[in-house]
Amino acid sequence: MLIAVRARRVIPLAGEGPSRDPRDLFSPPRVLDDHVVVIRGIFSGEAGQAALADGPCAPPPDADSATRVLSGLRGGVIEAVEPVDAFRRRAGVPLTDLGEVTLAPGVVNCHAHLELSHLAGRTVLGGGFVPWVKSLLPLAGADTPPDVRAAALADAARQLAACHTAHVGDITAVAPAAVRRAMRGASIGCSHFAEVFGYRFVTPGGEPAAPADTAALWPRAMAELAADMATDNLADAPAPASAPSPAPGAPFPVHPDAALAGHALYSTHPVALAAARRWCERNHRVFSLHLAEHPDEVEFLTTGRGALADLLAVRVLPPGFSAPGMRPVPYAAELGLLDEGTLAVHCVQLDAADIRLLADSGTHVCLCPRSNAAINVGTAPARALAEAGALLCLGTDSLASNHDLDLWNEARALRDLPAGHDLPPAALLRLLTVGGAAALGRGDIGSMAPGRRARLALLPEDFSQALGTTP
Ligand SMILES: [Zn+2]
Repeated sequence: MLIAVRARRVIPLAGEGPSRDPRDLFSPPRVLDDHVVVIRGIFSGEAGQAALADGPCAPPPDADSATRVLSGLRGGVIEAVEPVDAFRRRAGVPLTDLGEVTLAPGVVNCHAHLELSHLAGRTVLGGGFVPWVKSLLPLAGADTPPDVRAAALADAARQLAACHTAHVGDITAVAPAAVRRAMRGASIGCSHFAEVFGYRFVTPGGEPAAPADTAALWPRAMAELAADMATDNLADAPAPASAPSPAPGAPFPVHPDAALAGHALYSTHPVALAAARRWCERNHRVFSLHLAEHPDEVEFLTTGRGALADLLAVRVLPPGFSAPGMRPVPYAAELGLLDEGTLAVHCVQLDAADIRLLADSGTHVCLCPRSNAAINVGTAPARALAEAGALLCLGTDSLASNHDLDLWNEARALRDLPAGHDLPPAALLRLLTVGGAAALGRGDIGSMAPGRRARLALLPEDFSQALGTTP
């Protein structure tokens, strides 16, 4: 059935793709006055009640009510975005008036570790990467009761829904099925990146495996996600017709929203990284990698020394390991990891040549400014990346290195950098929407156009003011 929502202003970003031209990225977006979004689907909550109502409804009394209406629409697909006058010619389509708000596409959080949500507030922040990861490892390795994990995931889902997240790119190794259930409960889409880590690999049967053997790269927990496929009944995603069979290069069926990710250049065998990247390319999935996050990474890769070397020597590096003697970005390029199929996360420690290489390769770069600030690893050169034509998007990273999962707060962190390093609100809105959708290879979200999923966001007041869309 059809339902419609009216807003004082709509910023659909229709027809926009991720732009490599900063003039496009920074330009004011097209704002439509007094428009209606017509949606086809099955609706729940207040949206469902509106669908049953005959004729226009009164505007919700506050933004919270408007948010509840929007969350009830999330099973739908956009049929049209049209002026109110044109809509009045559609007979019998119930209309909910969202009032004096500005609607934008739902935001795309390109980098999270939702399975670490129960570690919020428990890690050592502010002292750099090595103290942080040393505090994280025993916590992440500890047995966590399923109810504690589930409660933390439910809270994470609430945070993501409250800021109108359409989709999240999630790094996972141990609990992808629990993450998917929590996201499904909040009608949030999820791309699961199974993390490849280490220098030694074994087959699912426990035999030592070559790092190029992609079947050995998949964390066992990803099988649960595949098993969950049959019951994976997001209202707007058709259920698979038959039981899936194991994917080529994987020990079990691979969920259509699952891909491989490398942990980092220093922690993972270069042959495994290249093999994972090739698997993603062959299977039309995005490959993700933490890249150039912290100064210890640069020191370790270029010299083989430093605090990170000491940490890795204990249990990660194989005997006789020697560092590549290169900076992270050129080393990633040499391994064939940088192109439009890769989502490189953080990209903080960059020199001018690194920025050029990232931009020219078409690699999608996910900035996580609040995580970088919390761990204290530096500030990514966001403005220089944008001006060089790099394809940018944003992620919150995990609650083990951030205060919340609100992507608008991530954008505010970039907006509020000193002049010359900051990004303007128009560019940030694009990073949160069309940029994120492109980075995760999702053609179904990121803008408001016929056929896209009806994942809509209320533009926060400060962004609305900056973009000149306050009433
Ligand atoms: Zn991360």
